[in-house]
Amino acid sequence: MLRAMYPGSFDPITNGHLDIIGRASTMFDQLIVAILRNPNKSPLFTVEERREMLCQSVAEWPNVQVEVFHGLLVNFAREKECRIVVRGLRAISDYEYETQIALINRKLAPEIETIFLTTSAQFSYLNSTVVKEIAQFGGCVRELVPPIVEKKLKEKFKKERG
Ligand code: ADP
Repeated sequence: MLRAMYPGSFDPITNGHLDIIGRASTMFDQLIVAILRNPNKSPLFTVEERREMLCQSVAEWPNVQVEVFHGLLVNFAREKECRIVVRGLRAISDYEYETQIALINRKLAPEIETIFLTTSAQFSYLNSTVVKEIAQFGGCVRELVPPIVEKKLKEKFKKERG
């Protein structure tokens, strides 16, 4: 049984994340999408909101599960018996940060291997921050995020505008 973990903030999930999840789900028996509760970031969506959006968006893949964690990724991966951590790579700019994290994680837990999936070309420019900025100023995010996220973004910014 090969179980992998795909960690991130997912604030909110985008079609770029979903592309990685869909591809990783075919590579492993089980994939746990792990939402980081990070006290150093101020997210737009609560972890509960992020979990709800993720659960709806991954419903088509029966071997994908959504969990929330805080603290060190390697501890959570060990707890869930995941030997593989999956991360996505977009541009060279991701590379430096991602290899640093992967090397630190290997130092902490040598038995856990990080693997990188290259983004599909059509999502290479996409990240959660860009999506939030477009939505905040009333732009259309339909092709960038799953339908539930589009809806939640509209609600969130409508409330903020009053
Ligand atoms: P973090 O805050 O840990 O970077 P994110 O939610 O931003 O978490 O991203 C989680 C993972 O998904 C990271 O490995 C990131 O590189 C990857 N990722 C984000 N957007 C894309 C995309 N458009 N294509 C491929 N991978 C992506």
